[in-house]
Amino acid sequence: MSIKNGAFVMPGDKLGIIEQYLLGKGTYEDNGEIKSSVLGNVQIDSKMRTITVKAKSSQPALLKLGDTVYGQITDIKTQRANVNIDCLTDSSRPLALPYMGAIHISQAKSGYLDKLTDAFRIGDIVKAKVVKITGDNVDLATVDEDCGVLKAMCTRCRDYMNTTQKENEVQCRTCKKKEKREVSINYVNS
Ligand SMILES: [Zn+2]
Repeated sequence: MSIKNGAFVMPGDKLGIIEQYLLGKGTYEDNGEIKSSVLGNVQIDSKMRTITVKAKSSQPALLKLGDTVYGQITDIKTQRANVNIDCLTDSSRPLALPYMGAIHISQAKSGYLDKLTDAFRIGDIVKAKVVKITGDNVDLATVDEDCGVLKAMCTRCRDYMNTTQKENEVQCRTCKKKEKREVSINYVNS
């Protein structure tokens, strides 16, 4: 499989496999394949072994205020939980940019939250609403009841957790550890 330098590609087009190139702008990985996230032209830097796609015109799926997204918690500080935004909830189009989101402690739930680790943990999959955009930095909120954690990851064994009878409590299906979360009404038990 060899895509040519300058080739015109559309979002979702296969560009190669991850063993061939490092992923540059305008590309993303999907099950070991490199795909284009934008409409544009392929640029291969054979020296750096990097493949990028230079966007042609308007980029697909730019985030806007009020959008809801799926993402994964990557880091938690005292005031903010960082989120790697994966995609829009209502569109199959990939995002034009690798947006980084953050949920401020005041935007995590409607009531008082003592500490952010009572709402999220690293690895959790969340649904969140876009409340502010500055460049490619996005402020997210999980106050709405459909937002919050969709799948929680156990801090002890890294397996996924299921909800319990108690509100905002989840339990690991493997090691049975119980933890707190800001659980979405759309939580996915497995
Ligand atoms: Zn566990």
